Amino acid sequence: MPEQVAFLGLGAIGAPMARRLAASPAYSTALWNRTASKARTVAGLARDGGAPTVAATPREAARGAGIVVTCLPTSREVASLLEGPDGLLAGLERAALLVDCTSGDPATSRRIAVRLAEHGVGFVDAPVSGGVAGAEQGRLTVMCGGSAPDVARARPVLETFGAKIVHCGPVGAGHAVKAVNQALLAVHIWSAAEGLATLEKAGVRADVALDVINASSGRSNSSMNLFPERVLTRAFPRTFRVALLDKDVAIAADLARQRGVPAPLLQLTAELFRLAHATLGEEADHVEAARVVEGWAGVEIGGKYSSGEG
Ligand code: NDP
Repeated sequence: MPEQVAFLGLGAIGAPMARRLAASPAYSTALWNRTASKARTVAGLARDGGAPTVAATPREAARGAGIVVTCLPTSREVASLLEGPDGLLAGLERAALLVDCTSGDPATSRRIAVRLAEHGVGFVDAPVSGGVAGAEQGRLTVMCGGSAPDVARARPVLETFGAKIVHCGPVGAGHAVKAVNQALLAVHIWSAAEGLATLEKAGVRADVALDVINASSGRSNSSMNLFPERVLTRAFPRTFRVALLDKDVAIAADLARQRGVPAPLLQLTAELFRLAHATLGEEADHVEAARVVEGWAGVEIGGKYSSGEG
């Protein structure tokens, strides 16, 4: 008999995660999304697997489920989804487990865990990395915060979309690790954009510069993958919104402040991504932050002004 589970939040990364969960014969899956048409689409695509159902409300999705997974923009949306007559708390069974795959913030997650505990429900923060392609292929890395028994209980569900599942510490630890990872990503994107814009203006083409950097100690995921595939091609596919990276870096910068760690680079990176978000808007991709640097520099990285014209 498949175990009943629910997945709420079918955005860019939530949808492929939910499809993999729904395709597992071990689970009978209920889906909920604020925009219901997306839930119907995901359920239709996943029908060959486990015929997921579409719930009308978070309460309905949670009813009877042993494990409920959320993947929303921020911890604020997760906290508000708990409340009200149609909220998760109205449907969650005692002894159920909420597994939050949102890239959230540790302090709000600790408050959510306390609120759930009042109802006998456990909580694991389980943000992911690996992007939309990693979700589609079941290759995500999942960083968990929670008690050892709760993380062990969540693991088989997480393995439907994750290849590497790491227990990082108590509730909030997964979100803390995720925020710092994202801050490093943001630093790498911004610094690669500044460096390559400078080289373009000094007369060195970005593809030539990356050929050297990617065989040298300055390389990163940004230089090896993001810039060659997204910036030099001018493709800028929209897979992860800059608004979400802005939120992530702000969490890391706040965490450093709260813990008394002087972190000028994190604070500056948070400011730069707040500005990029404000400049580029809600729907722009995170790698489009490079466009802000290009605008300031008056040069296109690998673009029409390259080829040694600088
Ligand atoms: P999207 O912006 O694509 O989707 C957001 C989802 O949250 C949608 O399902 C949206 O519903 C829902 N939502 C937004 N506001 C509310 C609300 N007030 N109440 C209920 N539901 C709401 O985000 P992603 O899927 O890209 O990201 C989700 C989380 O995963 C974020 O925390 C992000 O940082 C993280 N993440 C994303 C990655 C990526 O590559 N995209 C990679 C790793 C982590 P609706 O459809 O109605 O708008």
